[in-house]
Amino acid sequence: MKTRTIEKVTKPGIPHFVGDGFRVHNFIPGTSTMKRMDPFIMMDYNSKYNFPATDKPKGVGVHPHRGFETVTIAYRGRIQHDDSSGGGGIIGEGDVQWMTAASGVLHKEFHETEWSKTGGEFQMVQLWVNLPAKDKMSPPKYQAIANADINKVALPNNDGEVEVIAGKYNEKKGSASTFSPINMYNVKLKKGAKTQFTFPKHYTTALLMVEGDAKVNGDTNAPQDHFVMFSSDGESFSVEALNDTVILVLSGEPINEPIAAHGPFVMNTQEELIEAFQDFNTGKFGYLED
Ligand code: MN
Repeated sequence: MKTRTIEKVTKPGIPHFVGDGFRVHNFIPGTSTMKRMDPFIMMDYNSKYNFPATDKPKGVGVHPHRGFETVTIAYRGRIQHDDSSGGGGIIGEGDVQWMTAASGVLHKEFHETEWSKTGGEFQMVQLWVNLPAKDKMSPPKYQAIANADINKVALPNNDGEVEVIAGKYNEKKGSASTFSPINMYNVKLKKGAKTQFTFPKHYTTALLMVEGDAKVNGDTNAPQDHFVMFSSDGESFSVEALNDTVILVLSGEPINEPIAAHGPFVMNTQEELIEAFQDFNTGKFGYLED
C-alpha cells in the first residue's frame, strides 16, 4: 500500500464570529476550495474558547440552507438546534448532529439555555457535506447521534479508540447514514500510540487536531488546532500521538459534480441558486419562530 502524502498542514487562522455564539477558524474552503475538498465543502472550527455566563443564549438566529448537510460535532459545551422540518435537539460533549438540509430548511443554532447560564469552555466543529445532484432536493432529515450510540473500536495495546461517526472502521459501521461514501471518525490516542488509516486513494482526506499534538507519516508535525490535508496519491497514512490526542479524521469520495455556491445554498448550477433564493424569499422553506 502506498503512503498518502501530506499536501499541507494549516495553522488556525484569525477567528471570526458566526452570529455571536461561534468563534471559528475556517479551514474549508479557507485553506483550499470547495471543489478540492469535495465532498467536504465547509469546515468551521470553534477552537476552545471561554464564553461567559449569560441569561441570553448566544448563537445564530433563523437562517436557511439548501443542497447539503450540516454536521455539528460537539467537543465542549452544549448546543441547541431547531429547524422548520421539525428536527431539533440538544447535543453535548461527544455528540453529533447530522442535519440534512437537502431541499431546504430554516434553522437556528444556539448555546443551550442551561449551559449558557454558567458558560464555560466551548469547542466544536461544523462541517458541510455536499449532496449528490440527485439528492439535493430530497426531503430534509435530522439525525441526532448521542455519543453513547456511536460505535467504538478499541485499538490494540490499550492505545486508545476510534469512534466511528460515519462510514466504516475495521468492519465496524458508523452511526450516521450518508448519501455518498464518507468516513468520519473521532480518534482518541494515548501518548505514544501509533496507528495507521487506509482509505481508497481517490478519497478526499484530512485531519483536524482537536486535542493534543501528533506526528503524521513519521516526521510531519501536526500541532493542536491544526488542519492536515492529504494528497490523493496513496491509500494510507500514519499518526503518532505525542501526548493524549483527539483527532477528527475525514475521508470521503469526491462527488465530482459542478458546484454553484452562495451563502447558505450549495447547488450545481447558477439557475438552481437563483431558484433557491426565490423559494426562500417566497416562504417555501417553511416557518421557524425567532
Ligand atoms: Mn446553519
